[in-house]
Amino acid sequence: MKHQEFFYVEPENVHSDYIVLKNQEYKHLVQVLRKKAGDSATATDGQGNAYDFFITEITSESVRGTIQKKLRKPGEPFFQLTLAQAILKGNHFDWVIEKGTEIGISRFIPLLTEHSIPDINEQKLIRWRRIALESMKQCCRSIIPEITPALKFEDLMSETGQYQLKMIAHPHQNALPTSLLLKNRPITNHPVQNRNGIAIVGPEGGFNLAEIHLAEKHQIDFVSLGKRRLRAETAGIVLSTLILDKMGEI
Ligand code: SAM
Repeated sequence: MKHQEFFYVEPENVHSDYIVLKNQEYKHLVQVLRKKAGDSATATDGQGNAYDFFITEITSESVRGTIQKKLRKPGEPFFQLTLAQAILKGNHFDWVIEKGTEIGISRFIPLLTEHSIPDINEQKLIRWRRIALESMKQCCRSIIPEITPALKFEDLMSETGQYQLKMIAHPHQNALPTSLLLKNRPITNHPVQNRNGIAIVGPEGGFNLAEIHLAEKHQIDFVSLGKRRLRAETAGIVLSTLILDKMGEI
C-alpha cells in the first residue's frame, strides 16, 4: 500500500494516455503540496479506475499528467457492505460517512425510523457525498461509496432480499455476537466477488416494537454489540468493522 493520498480526476478529464486535474485538486497539488513537473502521484475517477501519473505540464488552472500505469479498483473491498443507519442529530452522520468510507463500506442508507429525527435535505446529501469523495481520496480507495436518499424502515425491509447477510444491531433476547452469527450463517458458497451484506443500526432512542417485529418477519439476524450501550454512530462503525473483519476485508 502506498502511503500517499489519491487525487480525484473527473471521468471526463481522463484521456487515453493523460489526465487533467483542475479546481480544488489542482490547488492542492500545486499550491499546497508544491508539486512540480516530473513529480508523480495517483488519481482516481471514483468509479473504480486509478492512474499513476507524472506531471508533464502545469498551467495557471490545470495540471496535465501522463499516465504511467492504470490500476483497477485499488483499495476496494470484495465484500459489498451497505450500512443503513438511522439519521443522526447535527453533524454526527458526517462522521459515520467519513469513518465508514475508511473502513470499506460501499453504500450508506440514511434510515428513517419511528424514533429518528428526519433531519435531512438535499443539501445534506450533497455534503455527505462530498465527504465520501474526500474520504475515498484520503484512504486510497477508488470508488466513491454510494449515499442513497433517505429510506423508511419498512421500505428497507422489503428490499432486504437482495442481501446475503442481514444484521440489525439491537439488544434483542435472541441477539448474538457477529462471530456466532457468521458461524451459523456462512456465506462462503457465494463467489468472493459477489458477496454482500447489510448492517442496520437504530437511532439514539432505539427501534420501536413494530420495527423489531418487522425485522423478525424478514429474518434479519439480531446482533449484540456487547454489554455496553453504544452511541448510535459508534454502533454503526463497530458493527460494520466486525462484519468487514470477518469477511477478510480488514
Ligand atoms: N435505548 C435504546 C435501545 O434500547 O435500543 C438504545 C439505543 S443505542 C443508543 C442506538 C443504536 O445503537 C441501537 O438502536 C442499536 O442499533 C445500536 N446499539 C448500541 N449499543 C448496542 C449493543 N450493545 N448491542 C446492539 N446494538 C447496540
